Amino acid sequence: MNEVQLEVAKAYPNDSGRGIARLDPDTLLHLKLSPGDIIEIEGAETTAAKVWRADRQDWNTDTVRVDGFTRQNADVGIGERVTIRKAEAEKADKLVLAPPEEASVQFGSDAAGMVKRQILKRPVVERDIVPVMSSTNHPFMRSPGQAIPLIAVETEPDGVCLITEDTEVELREEPISGFEKTGGGITYEDIGGLQSEIQRVREMVELPMKHPQIFSKLGIEPPQGVLLHGPPGTGKTLLAKAVANETSASFFSIAGPEIISKYYGESEQQLREIFEDAKEESPSIIFIDELDSIAPKREDVTGEVERRVVAQLLTMMDGLETRGQVIVIGATNRVDSVDPALRRPGRFDREIEIGVPDEVGRKEILQIHTRGMPLSDDVSLDHLADETHGFVGADIESLTKEAAMKALRRYLPEIDLDEEEVPPSLIDRMIVKRDDFSGALNE
Ligand code: ADP
Repeated sequence: MNEVQLEVAKAYPNDSGRGIARLDPDTLLHLKLSPGDIIEIEGAETTAAKVWRADRQDWNTDTVRVDGFTRQNADVGIGERVTIRKAEAEKADKLVLAPPEEASVQFGSDAAGMVKRQILKRPVVERDIVPVMSSTNHPFMRSPGQAIPLIAVETEPDGVCLITEDTEVELREEPISGFEKTGGGITYEDIGGLQSEIQRVREMVELPMKHPQIFSKLGIEPPQGVLLHGPPGTGKTLLAKAVANETSASFFSIAGPEIISKYYGESEQQLREIFEDAKEESPSIIFIDELDSIAPKREDVTGEVERRVVAQLLTMMDGLETRGQVIVIGATNRVDSVDPALRRPGRFDREIEIGVPDEVGRKEILQIHTRGMPLSDDVSLDHLADETHGFVGADIESLTKEAAMKALRRYLPEIDLDEEEVPPSLIDRMIVKRDDFSGALNE
């Protein structure tokens, strides 16, 4: 059979959540594919995607670009290999979607119709995660992780199915149990810029987690702790969550200031418990935000709680001995305020600076946060990237939300708040314009 093996790479920022795979012209030719055709992607599991042509920089790199949902559906990570072949897709007569375990979703009365419109002409395989935008929130509102991941619990027929106007889409509110995939969580596509920072974190965290034998063979210790430092809102938390998600590691999060304000003895106990849970559920990532807040302040003579918490943290980290299966990622805006004892070898001995994004980074972040937004043709993200010098990721996220709110206010007079449903024709017409962004920028 005609098939190729390719290395998995992350999706372009605009592609996420759309069920697209990017292939270069040679591969298309070899597999007799045209853009728009459906392919099967076989990793540890098999899923399907619609083919688009890759940008020139990717030609002859033997890669296929797919998003985090598709990677979960094929059960592969970035850098791993998959087999690609043309799919025999049949029209779906029926598709049943349900939320994953522990997610609760309430669907409005037209939700099935809205979901169908979103996934029209897309391929679905039973057990796939199908990301859909919320219909209970406003349709403009989406930031990373806010698409609702639904699971295709049943398709008719089996195999690769194509959603058409004639497909009967059924939504169940009852979560489905026993599916390992959750679809939730941040993926590398949700991070704009930070290309080389992501690469370094992957080497420090993913590599020892996935292939501990490499480190033992070379006789070196995998890192125990990694310190991310840089201004607030630049994506440190996002990056830690993405690594955990992409390695399928359990994620434990500790807010520095919170743990300090506990009653006597409680902080240490809580730290101990988190480390024990993390060991039990390894591979794990323990994320400690605002690590500097647990450094004893020199001007503060008491600082007693901080001192005890630092001591406890050191004890826990020194005693880990999990060979890269539990990694502690600390984040701070003030690297100089982190207790030097925490930065010694075997502790937080790797550092990565997460800086303010440049213009290219800002454009990627803009693309990410406008992914689910209907943008008018007069909106130029290049232009906006140019105009937002000094903005960090969090600022750009606020900007896009504010622009969407401005757009919404334009349509408000047409919305009858006493009616239960907003007419679908109005929702279809809504767009965010250049003026909405200019207005948001000038505030
Ligand atoms: P930090 O931990 O560095 O203070 P966060 O990771 O919590 O910052 O970022 C806050 C929010 O800002 C994120 O949830 C995300 O929506 C947005 N954001 C920040 N940095 C980026 C980025 N590089 N790419 C995309 N979104 C970002």
